[in-house]
Amino acid sequence: MLQRERVSDNIYVFQSDLYAQVTAGLVVGDDWAVAIDTLAYPEETLEMREFAEKELGLKVKYVILTHYHADHSWGSCFFPGALVIAHQRCRELLATRGLESLKAARRGNTVFQNTKIVLPQITFEQGQMQLRVGKRLLTLFPLGGHSPDGIAVLCEDERILFAGDAMMSLPVIVDGDLEEARRSLKQLSEMGLENIVQGHGDVILRGEIEEAVQSNLDYLDAVVKAVRRTARKKYALDDLRQSNVEACGKDRVLLAGLAEQLHLKNLVAVYRQLYGREPLSAGD
Ligand SMILES: [Zn+2]
Repeated sequence: MLQRERVSDNIYVFQSDLYAQVTAGLVVGDDWAVAIDTLAYPEETLEMREFAEKELGLKVKYVILTHYHADHSWGSCFFPGALVIAHQRCRELLATRGLESLKAARRGNTVFQNTKIVLPQITFEQGQMQLRVGKRLLTLFPLGGHSPDGIAVLCEDERILFAGDAMMSLPVIVDGDLEEARRSLKQLSEMGLENIVQGHGDVILRGEIEEAVQSNLDYLDAVVKAVRRTARKKYALDDLRQSNVEACGKDRVLLAGLAEQLHLKNLVAVYRQLYGREPLSAGD
C-alpha cells in the first residue's frame, strides 16, 4: 500500500512502502495535474495515476523528474501522453545509464517488463523554469549534490519544496558531489520554506527544517572525518567497513533499513572524491 498525504489544498505526497520510503507528488490544477517524480514499482505509480484519474478526475499532463535515478523516473511511462520535464543532463543520463540499468533489471525481474524509459521532451540546464498549474506557479531550478542532474520544484504560494534526493533522511552522494550537497542543504535552510518534500522519508515541516538540514550537514562532516582517519592506511576499505552509520549520527533504520549499506557507499564515494583513488581491501 502506498502512503498518501495531503500537504496542502491541492498538493499530495505519496510515499512507498516497498522501496526506501521513496516519495512522489501530485500538484492539482483546474483541468489537469502535474506529477513530480514517479515511484519505484509500476504498481505504485499506477496507484498514483488511479488516484489522479478516479478520485480527482484529472489526467496527469506533465511529469517533472527531479533526477534520473530509477526509483524516481522509471514510472513516467505509466502516464501515457504526459510530457516529461527535467534537467538536460537527466535526459542524457536516462538515454545512457537509464536504458542500460533497465535492461539489466529486466533480466532478473519480471516486474519491469512493461517499463520503458521516457526521455524528457522539455529540458532546461541553468536558471529556472516556471510552470503554471491553474492559479499556482511552480518554479523548477537545479539543486545538485545527490546526482549530476538534480532539480527541485517550488510551489511558490505554499512555499512547499519538492527537493528530490538533494534532501533525504540520510544524504546519499554516491552519484553526486560532497561540496555541492553541502551547498544545496544550506540553500534549503535559507529559502523560508513551509514544507520540504524529501526524495525519501517523511515530509519535513517548517519547524523541523533547520534541525533536519543541520543533521545532514553534521552527517556529511562525520563521513569526511571517518574517511580522513583512513588517509594513511594501505587497506582503507577495511577500515571504512568498520565505520557504522550510527557513529556518524544517523539511525540505521532510516530508508527502510538501507541506511548502513548506503553509508558505506557514501564513505567510498567521499574517499574517491578526496583522494582521487579507490580505497583498497586486504581481501582484494
Ligand atoms: Zn536518487
